[in-house]
Amino acid sequence: MVVLAGLLTAPGAHADVRDISRDTLAADDGWAAADGGTTGGAAADDAHVFTVRTRAELVRALDGGSATPKIIKVAGTIDANTDDAGRHLDCDDYARDGYDLKKYLAAYDPRTWGAAKPSGAQEEARSASAAAQAERIVLPVGSNTTLVGLGSGAVLKGASLQVKNADNVIVRNLELRDAYDCFPVWQPNTGGLGDWKTAYDTLWLNGATHVWVDHITASDEGHPDAKEPTYFARNYLRHDGLLDITNGSDLVTVSWSRFAGHDKAMLIGNSDSATGDRGRLRVTLHHNEFDSVVQRAPRVRFGQVHVYNNRYVVPADAEYRYSLGVSTESALYAENNAFTTPGHVEAADLVKSWNGTALHQTGTLFNGFPVDLLAIYNAYNSGSERDLTADVGWTPTLHGTIDSARQADRAVARGAGAGRIR
Ligand code: CA
Repeated sequence: MVVLAGLLTAPGAHADVRDISRDTLAADDGWAAADGGTTGGAAADDAHVFTVRTRAELVRALDGGSATPKIIKVAGTIDANTDDAGRHLDCDDYARDGYDLKKYLAAYDPRTWGAAKPSGAQEEARSASAAAQAERIVLPVGSNTTLVGLGSGAVLKGASLQVKNADNVIVRNLELRDAYDCFPVWQPNTGGLGDWKTAYDTLWLNGATHVWVDHITASDEGHPDAKEPTYFARNYLRHDGLLDITNGSDLVTVSWSRFAGHDKAMLIGNSDSATGDRGRLRVTLHHNEFDSVVQRAPRVRFGQVHVYNNRYVVPADAEYRYSLGVSTESALYAENNAFTTPGHVEAADLVKSWNGTALHQTGTLFNGFPVDLLAIYNAYNSGSERDLTADVGWTPTLHGTIDSARQADRAVARGAGAGRIR
């Protein structure tokens, strides 16, 4: 950073890293441009422009999620798992009241404990331990905030950024890495076989409106879930979503970002019974890369979601389930997206439906060839699932230029992610 600052001020040096901190969303750039648009902290006075290098400085600048217009620039790498003196905290440091994974596994083994919800000493200790970690890593982002990375090396590690019941937020040019849960909870009744539930999304929009997420990189780097052990015959997952958008969130644009090396990338709408989400969860996803993502890219309930010009990459050795999840009352409008997958993934695998009724798709490229995902879905799933119709009931109007899938694939490979704003 010192070297970079020197270059920028040196006579004759061309400043190819411009100050992005007061940028606002363009007038037509997706759903976050509707109803007044998204300006984040652009109105901040000089006293509310911060450069932060440590968790403590970041927490102070976030100000408990206050609505005061503020610009926060992240310099270098910040580790959320640190104490107030900046010392790294590992999972053992958060353990409370005798929590011990071996004892936890012994106590709630389905063969002896059965299918009841865990309760008793080890579950209470797990819960207290989880609260100790949450107190460090859950960081609230309030209304009228812009959070940006400085230059090309800004990283926030181990944090769960949460925009809760807040309006007008911009998050840009920042790598969000490894929101690692030290204390997953066993849920015996999830999905028939039971499953491990983890607490943290790297970025969670919870009742958030007017949010622009741009040029972020979000991944599990450092702790891939694929390397975690299996307990009770289920992968001991450590991460929840990379970017979950739930609980009445609305008017969101996610652009030029990379979502990588993760299981459940993006959930838009978290419950079939959350009928308050009707008419909300309007999200635009464009020019993003989903690389080595197992599922939910995104999975949608209720929302009108425009997914255009995104690049999907599934490496040969990666686990894969599906990309586009069509769930209850979703209105997904997918345009000119490119998928590159290994041979064992077929075009019929790209879409999955749970109670979905419609999917609009056009211009899809699958390993270089045009495909009609809707026709393929209906052909492969006839008899087992309801056919999806092409009528999602709306046509997107707020968007920039829509490129062909082939052009977008190349542009996204070059330009998506943190550190790549031009
Ligand atoms: Ca989540």
